[in-house]
Amino acid sequence: MVLDRINFLKDAINKANYKYYVEDNPDISDYEYDTMFAELKELEKENPLFITPDSPTQRVGSVSEKFFPYKHKYRLYSLDNTYEYEDLEDWYKKIVKEYGPQELVCELKIDGLAMALTYEKGVFVRGVTRGDGITGEDITNNLKTIKAIPLKLFEPIDIEVRGEVYMPKDSFEKLNQENLKNGDKLFANPRNAAAGSIRQLDSSVTAKRDLSMFCYTAIFTGGVKNPPNNHYDSLMYLKKLGFKVNPNIRLCKNASEAIDYCKEWDEKRFSLNYATDGVVIKVNNFGVQQEMGFTSRAPKWATAFKFPPEEVTTKLLSIEESVGKTGAITPIAILDPVQLGGSTVARASLHNFDEVGRLDVRIGDRVYIKKAAEIIPKVVKVIEDENHYNLPVYVPPKNCPSCGDELHIHDGEVNLYCDNPDCPAKRCAKIEYWVSKDAMDIDKIGPSIIEQLYNKHFVKTPVDLYKLTMQDFMQLDLVKEKSAFNMYNSIQNSKNNSLARLLTAFTIRNVGKETANVLAGEFGTLDNIMNASVDDLSKVEGVGEIIAADIYEYFRKSENVDMISELRALGVEPAPPVQNLSDELKGKTFVLTGTLKNMTRDEASEKIKLMGGKTSSSVSKNTSFVVAGENPGSKLDKAEKLGVIILTEDDFLKMIG
Ligand code: NAD
Repeated sequence: MVLDRINFLKDAINKANYKYYVEDNPDISDYEYDTMFAELKELEKENPLFITPDSPTQRVGSVSEKFFPYKHKYRLYSLDNTYEYEDLEDWYKKIVKEYGPQELVCELKIDGLAMALTYEKGVFVRGVTRGDGITGEDITNNLKTIKAIPLKLFEPIDIEVRGEVYMPKDSFEKLNQENLKNGDKLFANPRNAAAGSIRQLDSSVTAKRDLSMFCYTAIFTGGVKNPPNNHYDSLMYLKKLGFKVNPNIRLCKNASEAIDYCKEWDEKRFSLNYATDGVVIKVNNFGVQQEMGFTSRAPKWATAFKFPPEEVTTKLLSIEESVGKTGAITPIAILDPVQLGGSTVARASLHNFDEVGRLDVRIGDRVYIKKAAEIIPKVVKVIEDENHYNLPVYVPPKNCPSCGDELHIHDGEVNLYCDNPDCPAKRCAKIEYWVSKDAMDIDKIGPSIIEQLYNKHFVKTPVDLYKLTMQDFMQLDLVKEKSAFNMYNSIQNSKNNSLARLLTAFTIRNVGKETANVLAGEFGTLDNIMNASVDDLSKVEGVGEIIAADIYEYFRKSENVDMISELRALGVEPAPPVQNLSDELKGKTFVLTGTLKNMTRDEASEKIKLMGGKTSSSVSKNTSFVVAGENPGSKLDKAEKLGVIILTEDDFLKMIG
């Protein structure tokens, strides 16, 4: 029984190793691989007689036969890893027991490919992949194309340096976009893209790919007078020699400081332009490292804490064709529920039917799903196994799943649309958007209430919400007097919401929450916006000619003008603009990015406006300040590139007093 399980795991892990290391095309997620690996290790620990030399727990990686093999002078090991802080504490306790308290160096674990670079008298002579740790592939010529790898060092010493070759996230996205255009294979993640780029037989192809390398290990083989005696100093020395060393290194006094570092980077990792799958924690003192030594595949003086997975695989149960407020039909993946990034995921985005075709997603496939900070999970790749090819190809719908009308593609767009103005799903979606948090924020009314109100013919448009009585609500399933009162009340309370909210609720093409905010700030009243010319509108920050024309057209359509009159007759009238408290921020434009600790971004925007300033959703050379909270997005990179002043939340709080 146990032996069967051990053999099953060995087989599955060996197959995964081949797909990952040789084909650069894994078909299970790292998390699933690590879970199987940990189970095998545990079973072998309990049954040591079953350990065989060919077990994946006794070996590192794999070598392909694509390049010339090269036997490493110094073996390259893997790392033991864990997803639990408790294991880190136990690992450290054992060290303290034997060697006393030790300093630990924490480094980000770069998700790329390990390389060994050899320098003789300061000159780069050879670059070899890790392979199985004993033998790697000689890819010197390809490595020479990477600008971060110095061909000559600042000192004429003999040294072997290890590090990780990686592809920056933005270059990975760009490469995939180009591949998509040319009909070439897409890479699942930056690691695969780096692997596929560095292991090219033609170096000129590698040279075209944007690769870089962070170095993290030095073996001094000659010419250094006083070699460093600890890991931290050796990293500083590597920097002095001309290598790129990751700037986010921290020397920690104990395990608890190391765990703080892991927690900090688990949150901040998404702001980096390179993929990191964890933190490597190493004993600083070289003497202690030497005494501790190695297991058959990893050093005992180092361990990796792996971040909770961003990517897992699961089964696609069906594709829901959801009708949005504009009539756009969006495919949504309905999944076998799976744990990802701390929550259970049962639905994921498939963007549009073009994407479904590009991915060749078929119902019943195993798919990779991915979740990054603040982003809803999405299907990124299909596992193209035998099962996939036996499944029928998915055909996008020809008719609306709600009203049955024929679907159309609008000019210049990829989405399929239901153009029937009376489509029930489209009408309900419009009302759902009207009551949503970003729009009129009528929080007591959710999708199932809207569906019932619609089916009972109480509402057809958002305007009808304001005609509802308490008695209407009482006729809905399971609605008692108190909740009827709450629902009625929350609608009444929304009548004098801000102009920005009302503009958002209108669903004017290309006008979301941010643009609505700017427009409200600029024009003050609904009448001013309705009467503005395309020219007036296009002068507003972030509103170009196209959006200005969309806004202008919206207020020229009789059905919209009638709706506004009807709303007004029912008492829906935006609150008058609030007078500025001061004009201290007059002429200053702010862009807010990331999560703020002391207030929401909306509250911060409000404050800026009250002090005479403006906010914008995009960074340009006209931006005065970017306020960066936690996990800032690409806006921060853009601000850095344009030299815009970046404020931390604390700086911002001081500025607004
Ligand atoms: P690893 O990636 O877990 O850790 C060891 C490697 O970390 C080193 O070889 C080095 O390349 C890298 N590293 C990055 N930053 C480092 C730093 N600062 N200091 C030291 N090392 C650093 O181990 P591995 O043996 O390369 O690969 C095993 C892992 O690869 C698995 O845990 C799994 O996550 C993944 N894998 C996945 C599949 C799959 O099918 N999905 C298959 C095989 C392996």
